[in-house]
This record gives sequence, C-alpha cells and structure tokens, in this order.
Amino acid sequence: MVVAYHPSTATTPSPHVESNPYSVALAQYDRAVRYLNLKENTIEFLRYPHREFTVNFPVVRDNGKLEMFTGYRVHHSTVLGPSKGGIRYSLAVTLDEIRALAMWMTWKCALAGIPYGGAKGGVVVDPKSLSARELEALTRRYAAELIPLIGPNSDIPAPDMGTNAQVMAWIMDTYSMTVGYSVPAVVTGKPLNIGGSLGRSEATGRSVITCMIEALKRQNMNHPDDVSIAIQGFGNVGSNAAHYAHSLGYKVVAVSDVFGGVYNPHGLDVPALQRYTTETGSVVGFREADSITNDQLLTLSCDVLIPAAMEGQLTEENAPYIRAQIVVEGANGPTTPEADDILNDRGVLIVPDVLANAGGVVVSYFEWVQDLQAFFWDEEDIYKRLEKQMQHSYRATENTAEEHGVDMRTAAQMLAIRRVADAFETRGVYP
Ligand code: NAD
Repeated sequence: MVVAYHPSTATTPSPHVESNPYSVALAQYDRAVRYLNLKENTIEFLRYPHREFTVNFPVVRDNGKLEMFTGYRVHHSTVLGPSKGGIRYSLAVTLDEIRALAMWMTWKCALAGIPYGGAKGGVVVDPKSLSARELEALTRRYAAELIPLIGPNSDIPAPDMGTNAQVMAWIMDTYSMTVGYSVPAVVTGKPLNIGGSLGRSEATGRSVITCMIEALKRQNMNHPDDVSIAIQGFGNVGSNAAHYAHSLGYKVVAVSDVFGGVYNPHGLDVPALQRYTTETGSVVGFREADSITNDQLLTLSCDVLIPAAMEGQLTEENAPYIRAQIVVEGANGPTTPEADDILNDRGVLIVPDVLANAGGVVVSYFEWVQDLQAFFWDEEDIYKRLEKQMQHSYRATENTAEEHGVDMRTAAQMLAIRRVADAFETRGVYP
C-alpha cells in the first residue's frame, strides 16, 4: 500500500513562533541529553519524528456544501513498539503542535515502562461547530485516510482534546469495515460495550494523585487532612483527581473551569460539586464556597497545585507568586520553560506531566492488552496495577533526579530517552 507521507522538511520549528510547543519539546530534549552521554548518532536519530502524514479531505456539510479539512498524524518513534497517542480536534491544531505531542508521547510511554512508541494526530476543526452527523462523517473520512498508518500492531489512537469514546468507536468501526473483521485493539478509550476498559476514564486523575502522594512523602506530609489542594480544570483529569483525593481524605480547597473557580479553605464537598457541575455545566455558583478567578486559584495559599486544564498556565508572570510547595502537572505542558526555572529556583517541587498524567496511557495499554487477549479484568485489578506502575515510575524518576542533581522533569526525560536510546542501539540501523 502506498502512503503519501508529508516530506519531513521541517524538523526545525518555525522560528517566528516563540511559544511553539515543538520548540519547547526540542529544548527539553536538548537539555536532558546533555546529562546522558549518548552517542552523537543516537542523539540525532531521536530528535526527528519518524514519519509525518498530512491529509486534506472533504466533508459534505448538512447544507449540502463541501468543506475541506486538514488532518495530521505524526509517529515520533516506533523503537519500543507500535506508536501510541491521542487524536485532537481543535482549531488550534498545527503540525508543530502534533510533532511536540508525539515526541512527549514517546517519552511518556518509555517512562511508564510500556512497550509503545509515541504518536499524535489532529484535525483542524472546532468539533462543536459540527452536527452529530457531520462529526461522524469527518471522523470516518479522517480514519479512512489513516488506514495505512494505524492498526493494533502499528499505531493505536486514543481520545484527546475535542474527541471522546464515541469518536474512537467510529474509528474502530471504520477500520474494522475496511479490513473485514472487528479489531477492537486498533484504538483505546473506547466505550465499554465494544472492548473498552474499566477504569480508563478515572485513570489520569488517579495517576496524578498517586504521584502527589509520593511527592508529599518526600516533604513528610503524611496526613491527608493536613494537605490542601487547588485544582485548575474540572474536566476528565481535574474532576477525577479531585474525586480520588477527596475519597482519600485530602482537602480539595479550590477548583476552577473555563468560567471561573470556587474556594473553601475548609475543603469542598467534591461529590456534591460533581453533581452540581453535571446539572449546571460549571463549578461557578457552587454553594458553601467563595467565587475566585482562575488567576487567583493559581496563587492561592495551599500545599499542592494541580494544573489540569491546558498548556501554558504557569508563566513567568505568575510563577513568583505561586504559594504551593508542590505542583503536579495533570495537563500537558501547563508550565512554560521560564516558569519552570523560576519555580525550580524557588524550591517548588514540580512533578512533570510525562510522569504525573501517564495514567491515561497506562490504562490504555491495559485496554489494548485486554482486547488482544479477549479477556477482561475487573476494576480493582486495573487500579492496583496502575498504582504499582505509577509508584515505580515516580521512584525511578526521583532516584534519577537525586543521583544527577537535576529537577524531576529533566530526570523523567533522561530516564525515558535512555530507554529509547538503548533499544535503538540494540536494534541497530536498518538496512
Ligand atoms: P477536559 O476537556 O475534560 O477538561 C478541561 C477542563 O479545563 C474543563 O473543566 C475546562 O472548563 C477547563 N478549562 C479549559 N480552558 C480553561 C482555561 N482557560 N482556564 C481554566 N480552565 C479551563 O480535558 P481533560 O481530558 O481533563 O484534559 C485536561 C488536560 O489534561 C489537557 O492538557 C490534556 O491534554 C491533559 N491530559 C488528559 C488526559 C486524559 O486522559 N483525559 C491524559 C493525559 C493528559
């Protein structure tokens, strides 16, 4: 089968975009490899996305008019196994963003110790601007264009911003209809009734809290009711993190969403807040709490801050005023490199995204394993395996940070890059 790969001409990001995520990903990579004593050839190889695919495709809108859309899929690495990574529907999608996210997936999977490379995909579209029929048509056409790239042994998509379990079901069905038989393992994050896994939607929030608990141990903060937590974002990651932390006895004092936030220094009733949010669509106006802004939430007096909304939230401007001792990154890329330096200098412990939010991809891996063996595990089994995996990754990262005198982000990247580099050198260069 012939695949029209986009020529890999632009492995250097466009220079005029200062906050280009691919520049950030490459800068982090360059910083980590300085400590690793890798061969020059290996450093060069790992810097490049393996393959990049760009497609322009038509969708007929409900009014009968044809509209063209652009989609991408980037495989950063296939060294450790099939590539794995979400599909994002957003107007902000660019090839450089997808490249960065694919590279971060490579490190996230390697750090979590799961046998996957890294990938990411996206379509430039506001999914809310489409009817249900249009969204299905867009998804099925994009999936059909991806057929040469995706598969249970080659590249396994999952949901990301703007996509969900239903979108995964349409991709799974399109792939299955093309090959002629059902292939549940081609995507993860599917609905349960077609081979999804128990615990998948809670997984990322839980992994964030497991990492928080490990970080608190280091500060000798072992009593949950003494620990106050502020969480930015109350979607999948934020609300599940809040729920799990609350169930373990921690005080969730503030949460926010895109409309604003709520604060109660004595702790919020998280289950009641979840019911309120389901009814009203926002945390704003929740009883027994004061209203705050997102900016106020980030600089609240609390022990742990969990940014779980979007990238670029902790910046050069607000980093000097952040009062939490521990930041656990639920979102991908919530801390700018400038804020990272300021917080590290101030002694704030940052548990990086590639470590803390890996629960989603770890349980995606469990889903794929269950699909391949057509044998499904119970929720308790999944949570136990997830916790063990996260604790193991956390401690390995902490040990590397201490051994080399580096921050946790650099340590996480070092561990991950080392694992991929070793596998690359063992495999050798083809032909
Ligand atoms: P989501 O869409 O379910 O929730 C996002 C939340 O952030 C919502 O409450 C939204 O109102 C809020 N938000 C959006 N813009 C905001 C703003 N400007 N200020 C404050 N709040 C804002 O998304 P999610 O799945 O929870 O993902 C959140 C982050 O976590 C993203 O960076 C995502 O890439 C990352 N992540 C998610 C998973 C997963 O399994 N869902 C896994 C790894 C990483």
